[in-house]
Amino acid sequence: MHLFTVFVEEMTEQQNNEEQRPTARLTASRPEQRPPAGPPAGRTGRQDPRGRRSRPMSAAPRGINAPHMGKYQGSQGDQTERSSLTRRSRSRNRFGARRNRLASERKLPTTQLHHGKIGVPEGVSVEQDGTLKIFALGGLGEIGKNMYVLEYKDDIIVIDAGIMFPQDNMPGIDFIIPNTAYLHEKKANIRGLILTHGHMDHIGAVPYLQEKIGNPDIYTAQLTYKILEKRHLEFPHLPKLNAEIVKHGDIVKLGDHFTVEFFHMNHNIPDDLGLFISTPVGNVIHTADFKFDPAPVNDTPVDFEQLRAFGDRGVLALMCDSTNAEDEGHSISEQTIYENMDLIFQEATGMILVGTFSSMINRIQQLVQLSEKHGRKVVFDGYSLKSNVEIAKEMGYIKIAKGTQISMEQVDDYPRQQVTVIATGAQGQEAASLMRIVNKEHRFLQAQQGDTVIFSSSVIPGNERSVQYLKDMLYRGGLRVYHYQMMDIHAGGHAKQEDLKQILELLRPKFLIPHHGQYSMMVTLGDLGKKMGIPEKNIIIGDNGQIMHFTPEQWWFDKKSHPANYVMVDGLGIGDVGNVVLRDRQVLAEDGMMTIITVVDPRTGQIRNSPDIISRGFIYLKDNKELLSQVRKRIRHIIESEKQRPMNLVYLKDNIREEIGRFLFQKTERRPMVLPVIIEV
Ligand SMILES: [Zn+2]
Repeated sequence: MHLFTVFVEEMTEQQNNEEQRPTARLTASRPEQRPPAGPPAGRTGRQDPRGRRSRPMSAAPRGINAPHMGKYQGSQGDQTERSSLTRRSRSRNRFGARRNRLASERKLPTTQLHHGKIGVPEGVSVEQDGTLKIFALGGLGEIGKNMYVLEYKDDIIVIDAGIMFPQDNMPGIDFIIPNTAYLHEKKANIRGLILTHGHMDHIGAVPYLQEKIGNPDIYTAQLTYKILEKRHLEFPHLPKLNAEIVKHGDIVKLGDHFTVEFFHMNHNIPDDLGLFISTPVGNVIHTADFKFDPAPVNDTPVDFEQLRAFGDRGVLALMCDSTNAEDEGHSISEQTIYENMDLIFQEATGMILVGTFSSMINRIQQLVQLSEKHGRKVVFDGYSLKSNVEIAKEMGYIKIAKGTQISMEQVDDYPRQQVTVIATGAQGQEAASLMRIVNKEHRFLQAQQGDTVIFSSSVIPGNERSVQYLKDMLYRGGLRVYHYQMMDIHAGGHAKQEDLKQILELLRPKFLIPHHGQYSMMVTLGDLGKKMGIPEKNIIIGDNGQIMHFTPEQWWFDKKSHPANYVMVDGLGIGDVGNVVLRDRQVLAEDGMMTIITVVDPRTGQIRNSPDIISRGFIYLKDNKELLSQVRKRIRHIIESEKQRPMNLVYLKDNIREEIGRFLFQKTERRPMVLPVIIEV
């Protein structure tokens, strides 16, 4: 599985295609954009349609209510929405199954086997302040939004600041960033932000967090910096990046207590840096994302002797990439991939169209080389891809002979069998360039019978359907399709089991902290560690936010944790989409909505005309006249039985929502969002 790379780049694409997103976005959490019939102030304890009393949520569920999301929470509207949503969250669909909950809300079971000791172990006399603290704000038990922190006394260093792709049930959310609330308090102590490499799940959150954590100096390699700098242009309001470019072999002292030595690792993007961090308690190694590759593209293999020398100096803790820990064997070398793709190039007819990701710098280089070998011109398509290619060319990570690259406008000047198109969109994303070429929606290029299509990446879980759709489209068009399952044309950038064993053998750490992986991946790496002789009690499987304390001999979890829940970015808003808005989106997606517009004279209590009913995504109104007339009758009844003069419209609206909601559920077993609007005359 190579979810990681794929995933990261998918996000890059999303962002770059932002202008193509539908404009009608739900931003209901902003009070001024609330629907006209905004719910009334904090009514709680309402009856749900099955007669159960619901309680207002006293605390938002785990994972969503980040401190700086509190901006709109506690406003009256939100209070009520929340209470009605509590009821919603308990509901079941018509098959009796519980409705989806956000994964981030699910109460995760505490770790049984690997939980480690909580609180200072007996016989340890050290002050908690005298320990080395390590914690993650993202990256443990998940793939994405990587952020790891080391703290000793008043020195803090931060490693990476990435974004994560939202889950299926988070409609409209662009991506998720780490919750850095703890670092906001301690920003004066941050001695540096180290970025290990240029993938978005390691650098993507920098523009959102940079100021909040006090604009710390950034230490990173050249390519990573260039990608970061390019992206920074999209945020003109932000201060300049303070960055120091580092390379393999550089040593940087950060604060009084940390010294970081950068070392070269292989990944599927060049300039990947591992970290050897000396601390007063012992040496910590952060592997970054890595694999061992004896034949990398435009790069040198990892220096094993250096890793062994680190091991000789003593490694207290190893923070190790676990993404591919469940895969047996060694990582596939880029050389093998090259050879496999060469076979495709030999057989290919027509134009070669490759769907890839914009940060697959290595893969892009191979495609260029093969095109040159087989007498093809190369054209790049997709905004992020073109911009990354320019950066990589400038730095020599992509070498391209003069005359090979042509522009889109020149494509027609060459026979199809002499052209390779490298485009974004290996996951069937609608807006991506490959999809537009295939759908004949592209301005300059259309796929034709006899062309060859290569997907040079594996499918991100969840994208299978759109990829299948894309493949079917291609086969209908009489094209040849190659994808990673047919031949090894995609190698992940992460170490598999044999590589992981090798690194454990070279570094010989006392404590092993698997990171950068789903929970199962971290546990599997832990098991590998056990096989390699690390005692089980020294293997640390943690959750985001959990603070690990280290002395030279021991480790334990702090009784407290730092907040590490999701902060969601939606358009330009950061953290202002909380659970309320998300649940609304889920309700609308599942059962639709019904708006009831009634014109009433509050002094006399008289209704003018028949109530107007508008519904979307609930039932087809024309086929349900009977139901509608019953709804109208009920509304009339509710309003007419209201005796207070002048009428309390807030109370009335609430009543309509309750009663009609209950009635619709009885009749249809669905729970559309009911939005009563009362117009006074
Ligand atoms: Zn990476």
